[in-house]
Amino acid sequence: MSNTAIVGINWGDEGKGRMVDLLTEDFDVVIRYQGGGNAGHTVINEYGKFALHLLPSGIFRKNVVNILGNGVALDPENLWTEMEDVTSKGVSLTPENLKISDRASLLLPWHRALDGLEEARLADKKFGSTKQGIAPFYSDKYQKKTILAGELLYPEHLKAHLADLMEWKNLTLTKVYGAEPTTMEQLEQWIESYCEKIKPFVCDTGLFLRQAQKDGKRLLFEAQLGALRDLDYGIHPYTTSSNTIAAFAPVGSGLPTAKIENVVGVVKAYSTCVGEGPFVCEMFGPEADALREAGFEYGAKTGRPRRVGPIDIVATRYGVQVQAATNIALTKLDVLSYLDKIPVCTHYTLDGAVIDEFPFPTVLDQAKPVIEYMDGWKCDISGIRKWEDLPVAARKYVEFVEAGIGCHIGYVSVGPERDSIIIR
Ligand code: GDP
Repeated sequence: MSNTAIVGINWGDEGKGRMVDLLTEDFDVVIRYQGGGNAGHTVINEYGKFALHLLPSGIFRKNVVNILGNGVALDPENLWTEMEDVTSKGVSLTPENLKISDRASLLLPWHRALDGLEEARLADKKFGSTKQGIAPFYSDKYQKKTILAGELLYPEHLKAHLADLMEWKNLTLTKVYGAEPTTMEQLEQWIESYCEKIKPFVCDTGLFLRQAQKDGKRLLFEAQLGALRDLDYGIHPYTTSSNTIAAFAPVGSGLPTAKIENVVGVVKAYSTCVGEGPFVCEMFGPEADALREAGFEYGAKTGRPRRVGPIDIVATRYGVQVQAATNIALTKLDVLSYLDKIPVCTHYTLDGAVIDEFPFPTVLDQAKPVIEYMDGWKCDISGIRKWEDLPVAARKYVEFVEAGIGCHIGYVSVGPERDSIIIR
């Protein structure tokens, strides 16, 4: 396969990890290009069940090189914890199959603290942050007040740079939030416990990728979260602090010259959303509880119950457009098997008019969903592997969504396991 990005079309948690795990078979290199430890990709395979936060999902395949690109929020503590988890389950991690960009910025200990302090200050106006420090991290990155992973290779310089940043950041911690300052001893402990462990994996991944491109290697770009959480194109301000769209993949990966021929957009067969902000097609009460239970919709990172609703054609079509998706993987179709009638949000109404286009974020919470119902299939489809073996009602549902979002659905996922897939 030619260069491919796997991206989320909606609010995240669409099942991207499961699709990357499946598709890595056809690739030589898997690259994470944005985001940090604030979301989780769930992967189930022969090694067990994993919630990956930072490690690329190709880590389970032999002969696949995995890269954490310069666009990632590299949290040494989270990463090392995750590396220990996967190695304890038999996965081998070496500088040959895991490479950390020397240009990736480090998420520093105060970023997580500041995230929590700011959410507490906002109280009932909070954003619903996962408190992993992502927003403070990216703010500092754009102020150039971060440390690059490559600086770990220069210990004296590293300590001096950290001391400068600490002096600056302690002003905010103590004077703005009245919190405890960070000390140099804490930072030295952090370097010792986490940074030293990941250091052997740090290298010039740009150089590696340019060579890989020259050698005709097949590259897979893995995103975190979804289009509606993109910093520039998502539901501002309830977005993440990085660009989740495929267009950012060349920049965040370390290969700015990459041409991405295929964009596989992952869409869940219904909607889920974690955190605050407008969610037009949200369901409540027993109907919502039943869907949440059927899909086991609790955050991979936080365990928080996800907000749920029917598939939202308006939001999904917008996500398909901003991702420039060329193919769609529709996941969790099996979860809808319990329903007699399946709700679909086909349009919105806003100010008394029926609309097709995803509205400006400020007025999004005034939009109301227009719901149509489709026939359910009421049988277990999780063992089905061929399109023609799906019940007619299930096929009609997929075709209806496909027509609504304007992109071919090439994969239908009917279970979390690697092989629970129908390829159309
Ligand atoms: P990601 O961040 O986009 O990878 O998504 P998450 O890992 O947060 O959520 C997807 C969840 O759905 C995980 O628990 C997966 O194991 C599970 N999953 C993925 N595809 C399917 C599917 O087709 N059917 C079912 N029942 N579960 C699925």
